[in-house]
Amino acid sequence: MSVLYVVVPCYNEQEVLGETTRRLSDELTRLIGAGVCHPDSRILYVDDGSKDKTWSMIEAFHAENPLVCGIKLAHNRGHQNALLAGLMTAKDRCDCTVSMDADLQDDVTVLGAFMEKYHQGNQVVYGVRSSRKTDTMFKRATAQGYYKVLDALGVEVVYNHADCRLMSRQALEELSHYRETNLFLRGMVPHLGFQSDVVYFERAERFAGESKYPLKKMLALAWDGITSFSVKPLQWVWGAGIGLSVLSVLGLIACLVLWLCQVPFSGLWAAVAAVWLMGGVLLIAMGILGSYLGKLYFEVKDRPRFAVEKAVFSQNSHEE
Ligand code: UDP
Ligand code: MG
Repeated sequence: MSVLYVVVPCYNEQEVLGETTRRLSDELTRLIGAGVCHPDSRILYVDDGSKDKTWSMIEAFHAENPLVCGIKLAHNRGHQNALLAGLMTAKDRCDCTVSMDADLQDDVTVLGAFMEKYHQGNQVVYGVRSSRKTDTMFKRATAQGYYKVLDALGVEVVYNHADCRLMSRQALEELSHYRETNLFLRGMVPHLGFQSDVVYFERAERFAGESKYPLKKMLALAWDGITSFSVKPLQWVWGAGIGLSVLSVLGLIACLVLWLCQVPFSGLWAAVAAVWLMGGVLLIAMGILGSYLGKLYFEVKDRPRFAVEKAVFSQNSHEE
């Protein structure tokens, strides 16, 4: 039996917290009763510096229900940081975590399916929404476009997966070695590279209250997803510089040939080609700087260079 911690970041969620606690606690009790989860399993709320009654509600739930526990962050640090705080708090207390939103959009009844995949040996299980029926046309189109952009940039993400996922203690331990502050967990977790599987569920509407992810925060997260994982845009500068330089050199050669053949043409073209060449050379110079910057960027991140998933050794005679 495994100790499961369900990690739930909450920011001003007083409208939903009662119902979320009821449903999660019923499901966890059922799984404990069925022998799937250990009785030490918990629901871990992370209050992300809420301004409403969220924290006092968490304290009250904890007082009456031993399954509920919580931590309160001193400031609002945003969903990704709050989630990481919860995962790192749970890491040494459990065998695995499942992260979920507080608003009941992620299906609580799939906890059993997550545990089943975990018991089959997966270190990470991604919750993937089976459809986007509840989304507006705009949201659906932008989300799909975004996944395509990430893919083109070489960022490994799981299609239609947000932050509802199971992580084993080993995967959490590895995640704790990623020291970066610009978090994009849905890129970082696939980067760990552990054996993983997928659980599908229908994503519901928010149970109550309003979205805590306005367009501004959403765009900031999307931008983090690109800039925290890919240096390809820096390499494009390099490519553009070479392209422009080649084009302008060809232009200059054409001008030279016309001049040698005494074909009349406007000298302005030669000037344009020369200006383009200057631009191309400058872009190449920026591309060179970009290559160093790209290296520096990964050095500064100080990510682990490898993760050992499994090992087999035979015993040496002197170790007996
Ligand atoms: N959240 C958080 N800190 C924030 C914003 C959001 O902890 O600064 C939590 C929020 O309480 C919820 C989850 O992140 O549990 C997802 O937010 P929300 O449901 O509002 O986003 P949406 O589903 O609308 O994208
Ligand atoms: Mg939501």
